[in-house]
Amino acid sequence: MKRMVAFLLMAGCVCAAGVGKVQTVEKMPQHEVAVQCVPVDAAAKPRNVILMIGDGMSSEHVWAAWVCNGGKLNLEQMPVTGFSRTFSANRLVTDSAAGGTALACGHKTNNGMLGQTADGRALSSLASRLYAAPYHKAVGLVVTKAITDATPAAFYAHTASRYNTAEIAKQLCEAPFSVIVGGGSGAFSSEQMQALRKNDQAYVELAAKEHCPYAPERGDFLARQTERALAELEKSPRGFFLMIEGSEIDTASHAADARLAVAETLDFDRALGVVLRWMQSHPDTLLVVTADHQTGGIAIHGGSVQERKVKVSFATTEHTGVAVPVYAAGCGAQMFTGIMDNTQIPQKIFQIVAE
Ligand SMILES: [Zn+2]
Repeated sequence: MKRMVAFLLMAGCVCAAGVGKVQTVEKMPQHEVAVQCVPVDAAAKPRNVILMIGDGMSSEHVWAAWVCNGGKLNLEQMPVTGFSRTFSANRLVTDSAAGGTALACGHKTNNGMLGQTADGRALSSLASRLYAAPYHKAVGLVVTKAITDATPAAFYAHTASRYNTAEIAKQLCEAPFSVIVGGGSGAFSSEQMQALRKNDQAYVELAAKEHCPYAPERGDFLARQTERALAELEKSPRGFFLMIEGSEIDTASHAADARLAVAETLDFDRALGVVLRWMQSHPDTLLVVTADHQTGGIAIHGGSVQERKVKVSFATTEHTGVAVPVYAAGCGAQMFTGIMDNTQIPQKIFQIVAE
């Protein structure tokens, strides 16, 4: 009897999470896509580098969003595509700390670790390398979860655990970012908030104590803040490095909520639209869009592009071990075709800027 109750409780949990259940997503707010394709410039060296990370975003998330947007996405405008292998140093299925560290620093580490190797050696991220001499680029982060969460933290923190929030917050205060946007204000004291603002030299917008709410409630925060970040960073005399994260594609997929997972992917695509339009007048830019891993094991069962309706299910509430898409445009974009390791993405970016 006890065993039966335990089984029913477990089954109840699985049901509530929506795993295995086919969910219909329809009537999502539709958006237009950037009209012109951003060309590949194989010869020019980029002044600016923009890395966009859809946390947990697989090809299936993208195609479900594509159906719901009537068969068009800004992601489709990207002239170069590839795949990234996402496994970490100690697991076939990575978490966001090891995945973020691979994308930020170009090294594999163990799940849970940030900005350091599995044996504890601190790693330099793209942001710190491009800020340093001889590059002197301004650096920025725009996310929708806490700014101390694993993905953004991989660009500035070095710690054995992604859950050392106080230490991560302290390390952000010492980092040279001139744009800091997301949630997570609750991790900082008022003195630390002052330190982040650098005498009002930095643009800091932490819009929530912890994570910002999901896209339907958040509105156009990510697109609007992306626009603002570009306006701030383009003033930099030596160009900039900007990381933009669609943070909650992952969270919605952990919750096995198809509607929110699609809403978050569409929101990320709208932010990409802002970047693509900006790149029309700033072609001296390299843009790379990818994911740190896949979340939820999404399957597409049916639907209709004309009706903007898709039927999807989740296989799990965890991350999975599949390769994720890579998209690139602008200066040096040709380097991102084919199948690559996640660690090669920042290595290639650095090589393109440094050469
Ligand atoms: Zn996750």
